[in-house]
Amino acid sequence: MSTAIIVGGGIGGLATAIAFLRKGWDVEVLERATTIAEVGAGLSVWPNALRALDALGVGAEVRARATEEGAAGIRDSKGTWLSRSDTDLLRARYRLPIMMHRADLFDILRAAIPESALRTGITVSEARTDGTVVHSAGTSTGDVVVGADGIRSVVRRAVCGEVAPRYSGYTAWRVVVTPTEPMGDLGESWGRGERFGYAALADGRVYCFATGNMPAGTAGGGLAELRRRFGTWHAPIPGLLAAADEGALLKHDLYDLPALKTYVAGRIALVGDAAHAMTPNLGQGACQAIEDAVVLAEVATRDGDLTRYDAERRPRTQMIVTRSRRIGAIAQLSAAPLVALRNAVLRLTPSTAQANALAPVLDWHPPTR
Ligand SMILES: Cc1cc2nc3c(=O)[nH]c(=O)nc-3n(C[C@H](O)[C@H](O)[C@H](O)COP(=O)(O)OP(=O)(O)OC[C@H]3O[C@@H](n4cnc5c(N)ncnc54)[C@H](O)[C@@H]3O)c2cc1C
Repeated sequence: MSTAIIVGGGIGGLATAIAFLRKGWDVEVLERATTIAEVGAGLSVWPNALRALDALGVGAEVRARATEEGAAGIRDSKGTWLSRSDTDLLRARYRLPIMMHRADLFDILRAAIPESALRTGITVSEARTDGTVVHSAGTSTGDVVVGADGIRSVVRRAVCGEVAPRYSGYTAWRVVVTPTEPMGDLGESWGRGERFGYAALADGRVYCFATGNMPAGTAGGGLAELRRRFGTWHAPIPGLLAAADEGALLKHDLYDLPALKTYVAGRIALVGDAAHAMTPNLGQGACQAIEDAVVLAEVATRDGDLTRYDAERRPRTQMIVTRSRRIGAIAQLSAAPLVALRNAVLRLTPSTAQANALAPVLDWHPPTR
């Protein structure tokens, strides 16, 4: 039986483990954390990734623990609509994205993998193109080694040397809140160099996310900072921030990866953020990791030529990294004249044009063989 050694037990690693298991492979997931768990935040899963999750046999369970993202759009800080998505058009053309808690997706992915395949508390220090992985408990050897170890991947060194992530210029906050007032329409609100968004979770809670321009590594930035930035924005934002718990607040500087020359070397293939970490402006980072998983297992099983995986996945994922970065640059504009111009363009852009622009990202289907 063929074996896949998967470094990293994040969404990308777990999805890849399921994809190989379904092809009849033996799987070993090496995760440095002592428990396999996700951060307390929401995750939007777009129809392209839902098709990939269907291919992994978990799509129905995922949908059952998620809410369909309904009417949405972009407002200014006072609540005036700049752009509204045409939900009917999006549903008819692509199906709507869903929103779920990350922990729920993790539970579902984990449950599809036998406990014996998950090795926690193991830190990988080196991967070799011959299929050897050196780690804190010894070595493992596989027919394929999958680098699913995130944006600061160790496995990536064997594929393309040191590659430094790029700071986007802005940080992100996330928090899940129990709302105390009606939410109305969901979506994002854009100000000058900062954004606030919120989306409903299946259990009635609300996932809030915000961004702000600042140098990487800026200290502080707790709820007091969020309330200072967004406390005077339109309802229900001040109420959501009043209901938020400091201990549940996450703050991460946002980075992406410059385009790698390849995602494969010898027996090694990179998936997810290790290959193509992106800013979250399209909500596609995890979605692309799930697509990677399905394609990699298919290619590895078909004829083992991993360069086909590279050829299929690299152009698509790098296109999405670039788009996400561009959207972020526009959304985070801070100079007043540029913000006024951006808002005017948003108001004038028809919803059909917005829907068409999503086609290259959402019109993806799993390999059929
Ligand atoms: C603010 C924010 C919002 C986002 N929103 C969305 C969204 O709505 N939709 C979406 O699709 N994506 C979203 N993303 C992106 C998404 O979270 C990531 O793309 C995705 O989680 C990447 O998964 P991964 O498995 O590739 O990497 P990771 O989640 O980083 O997992 C890597 C795993 O490898 C382990 N590891 C690392 N190094 C080693 C080692 N040396 N040895 C052993 N184990 C190791 C780590 O402990 C970790 O468990 C968002 C990201 C951010 C920051």
